[in-house]
Amino acid sequence: MPYENGDRALGAEAEKTVGVLHAAESPRADVSIPPLRELMGRVSPAQDSAFAPIPSELCNRDGMHLRREARDAFVRMHEAAAKAGISLTALSATRTFGHQASIWNRKWNGAQRMGMAPVDRALDILQYSSMPGSSRHHWGTDVDMHSLEPEDFDQGEGARTLTWLRGHAGDYGFVEVYTPEANRPGYQPEAWHWSYAPLSVAYLNALNGATPEEKRAVFEGFEGAFVADSVDILGRYVNGVSAEAAGH
Ligand SMILES: [Zn+2]
Repeated sequence: MPYENGDRALGAEAEKTVGVLHAAESPRADVSIPPLRELMGRVSPAQDSAFAPIPSELCNRDGMHLRREARDAFVRMHEAAAKAGISLTALSATRTFGHQASIWNRKWNGAQRMGMAPVDRALDILQYSSMPGSSRHHWGTDVDMHSLEPEDFDQGEGARTLTWLRGHAGDYGFVEVYTPEANRPGYQPEAWHWSYAPLSVAYLNALNGATPEEKRAVFEGFEGAFVADSVDILGRYVNGVSAEAAGH
């Protein structure tokens, strides 16, 4: 079952800052976990040697980055897809807390949500956009590809792209995160969002192991931050992922 309540791992056994997961907790024993503040978006990918740029010809604009191992895997996957006539154009990769806050604040203050109560406003935004600090795009392991419109994957090139990804992305370590199964909580399905699991499963485990104080410290500095607990960001959204993305 992909959903696990975020309170599951409040204990102190998991790594809090920098460390290595035990082999029993992860398929990879050698994954070093970035400091939690990095997993919560306090990153500068262009200035950080842990990140590497995605070649601009694989993106719809310049300046996208992933963590090095994930970038290399993405490049290999992109090459393989291209040989099959599939173009995995990257539309978004690593996003900072500041970037996510600008997306969130714009939606929070949008005219169509002005009449809504704070919790409803957050839940409406959370259909597709993450609360700053909680986005997997902070991690440097996740990438959006092809199109951000769900309908585009229903037929034609989009459907062929999704079929290719579901058949082959796993060979390069990438898994679908926001799958269409009915019992998955959190975000609406996102056919475009794929994650480099050899790193991101370990990062999710590390976030779940953070102390309540550490988790709470993330949710400040943006509009409506006070509703984070009410909408259960960590339990429903950060952990509302496919079994593969949860490492099950
Ligand atoms: Zn995404």
